[in-house]
Amino acid sequence: MKTFNFKSATSTKEATKMATGRATFLAGGMTLIPAIKLRLAAYSDIINIKKIKGLSGIKVSSKSLRIGATTTHSTVAASKEVGKSIPSLAVLAEGIGDPQVRNRGTIGGSIANNDPAADYPSACLALNATIHTSKRKIPADKFFKGMFETDLKKGELIEAVEFEVPEKSAYAKFPNPASRYAVVGVYVAKLKKEIRVAVTGVQSCVFRCKKLEDALTSNFSSSAIDNISISSKGFNADIHASAEYRSHLVKVMAKRAIGSC
Ligand SMILES: Cc1cc2nc3c(=O)[nH]c(=O)nc-3n(C[C@H](O)[C@H](O)[C@H](O)COP(=O)(O)OP(=O)(O)OC[C@H]3O[C@@H](n4cnc5c(N)ncnc54)[C@H](O)[C@@H]3O)c2cc1C
Repeated sequence: MKTFNFKSATSTKEATKMATGRATFLAGGMTLIPAIKLRLAAYSDIINIKKIKGLSGIKVSSKSLRIGATTTHSTVAASKEVGKSIPSLAVLAEGIGDPQVRNRGTIGGSIANNDPAADYPSACLALNATIHTSKRKIPADKFFKGMFETDLKKGELIEAVEFEVPEKSAYAKFPNPASRYAVVGVYVAKLKKEIRVAVTGVQSCVFRCKKLEDALTSNFSSSAIDNISISSKGFNADIHASAEYRSHLVKVMAKRAIGSC
């Protein structure tokens, strides 16, 4: 039997107060519900955060783009503000899953879950994002800790993700044809002060690729990475792609992303 108390919070304060013991937050439910149904996870209390006002929505300034935690992927994909300030982010959101997943799944749920093949974590790293939570502000570089693991503490709620608006950016993904999760995804961003390249789908957790960042810092063009070799050591190998194929795809996706910047 899967039994739990279902609660709906109307404010962040109320949600975090409810989050005691074996409680968890529910956003789009696209990961949480299958995990419970497959008996991979069990909770005493499920706290619906979708009714919290102010937790969804998009705000743009000249320097940053702030997306509320319960904003769905389809809202991001269709947003004129996102399309204008960081078009690559709208492209990323449009490429997630299928229409049902995009209409329910949220940015906060995606990064809290930190699936090794999820798309948004790469955007957070490449666009030097700040994760605003009920307790603090966490730089993306310190947020993603390992497979399905983040820096979030028990009962800590993501409120928004704030991205730096880049000069140029693009995301290229080689998707799993069934789920659309990334077999390999590479996000390239030319920020005001630095160039960042984030890779997803390849290891147990999203990571920045220093070799590619260094090469692009000296010359921001796809030819700059021609002679770079990406070692497949520690890369994922599964029925979708070997570690060697993934290392090949990192370069191919990086070139595609640079070409679309
Ligand atoms: C068929 C399918 C295909 C998919 N394809 C892709 C894909 O191509 N690319 C991709 O990136 N993703 C993909 N996803 C994942 C999907 O996009 C969702 O983003 C993801 O499932 C989690 O978001 P959610 O809002 O549904 O969160 P939920 O399932 O509600 O929650 C997931 C976890 O995050 C926690 N959580 C949720 N919101 C918060 C918050 N604000 N603060 C703290 N903790 C929180 C929950 O407690 C739970 O532990 C796919 C999912 C499915 C089912």
